[in-house]
Amino acid sequence: MNMTIPSDQVKHDYATYLIPNYAPNLVFTRGEGVRLWDADGKSYLDFLAGIAVLALGHAHPAWVAAVRDQAATLTHVSNLHFHPLQAELARSLVAKFVPGSKAFFCNSGAEANEALIKIARKWGHDHGRFEVISCCNSFHGRTLATLTATGQDKVQKGFEPLPSGFRYAEFNNLDSFRRAITPQTVAVLVEAVQAEGGVLPATREFLQGLRALCDEHGLLLLMDEVQCGIGRTGHWFGFQAYDVVPDAFSLAKGLGGGFPVGAMLARAPLCDVLQPGTHGTTYGGNPLACAAALAVLRTIEEDGLLASVLANGVRFGDGLKALAARYPWIKEARGLGLIWGLVLDRPAKPLELLLIEEGLLTVATSVSVIRFVPPLIVSEADVREALAALDRACARFDGQIQQAAAHAAGEGVKT
Ligand SMILES: *Cc1c(COP(=O)(O)O)cnc(C)c1O
Repeated sequence: MNMTIPSDQVKHDYATYLIPNYAPNLVFTRGEGVRLWDADGKSYLDFLAGIAVLALGHAHPAWVAAVRDQAATLTHVSNLHFHPLQAELARSLVAKFVPGSKAFFCNSGAEANEALIKIARKWGHDHGRFEVISCCNSFHGRTLATLTATGQDKVQKGFEPLPSGFRYAEFNNLDSFRRAITPQTVAVLVEAVQAEGGVLPATREFLQGLRALCDEHGLLLLMDEVQCGIGRTGHWFGFQAYDVVPDAFSLAKGLGGGFPVGAMLARAPLCDVLQPGTHGTTYGGNPLACAAALAVLRTIEEDGLLASVLANGVRFGDGLKALAARYPWIKEARGLGLIWGLVLDRPAKPLELLLIEEGLLTVATSVSVIRFVPPLIVSEADVREALAALDRACARFDGQIQQAAAHAAGEGVKT
């Protein structure tokens, strides 16, 4: 097994042979359920889930069986031909959205958002409308179009000139969207919860107001459900937590439960805009990807995971809020379902590292926020264990803060 490769060797090979666009931390060799093991055999409770990807956790028996069986039966046929699983997956997703809608499959979140942008442009093309308004502090991917839709300088810097046809407005600010509309605007693109942007949920008034604004101006409401889709909020799709129906939306991350698969769903008549020759991808919705995604959807359904995401989300959120009440350097705990952020008044990376020492895997995002996106299968006991690790790490972090303050005060006395 790969246990024979020492982690120093792996790190050395990364430094030598991989383009340094990531800054990886731990070397993992095995996962099971909500648990991960590193190369030294230390175990972690995984509240990162491969960045909200592992909806069913690691090595879920139903997922493993589906992927293994499909790999041995039919892996790939190309989209030049039919196969039953793509039809079944599309039918299952449409049933969770609105009647008459249709699906397109691809391989990642960025590609799913590209499809959203392309379908919107094709829709508006004959009327000279092409502009997409997205949000400041959003995240939509790393392709040229999706990084342009991403309203963050740090994502765009160095890749200019950016494609034209994008404007920005402020999340949770309807007036800002109203002001950004021009005669060329065709669509707005938003997340139900800005995830990379610091786990900031939309307000109900904002999303419902945006739907009304789009209707008023004949604009498409596009939603990026790459991170909040597939049960993360306790609903199939994040917008369902807000009783809002978009015209089209993207999926990826949780959909494949670890197998790369993305999707775009669009309502009628928008869904018939992309005719043969206008869009496509070789791997999109191949039998193996569809088998993985169907195993995810079936397990969420059969195991009643949407209900347990809601219940465990409230438990976990209450625990985080209790922590926030205890420490003055925690500004807020915010989220819904199983996507939560602990907002600090300072950089969160040191706390992420303390959490790793305490055996809880999370990620610092947007500089000062610890993001929690555990697998949807977490149990009440897992939530308790995570909160206990947080308790220990926060006490240690608080100790460091007190010490630094005492030190600074001592320095102050001397001068
Ligand atoms: C991760 C993410 C993306 C990009 O997905 P990739 O699969 O990395 O291309 C887009 N939008 C949101 C909201 C995401 O969280």
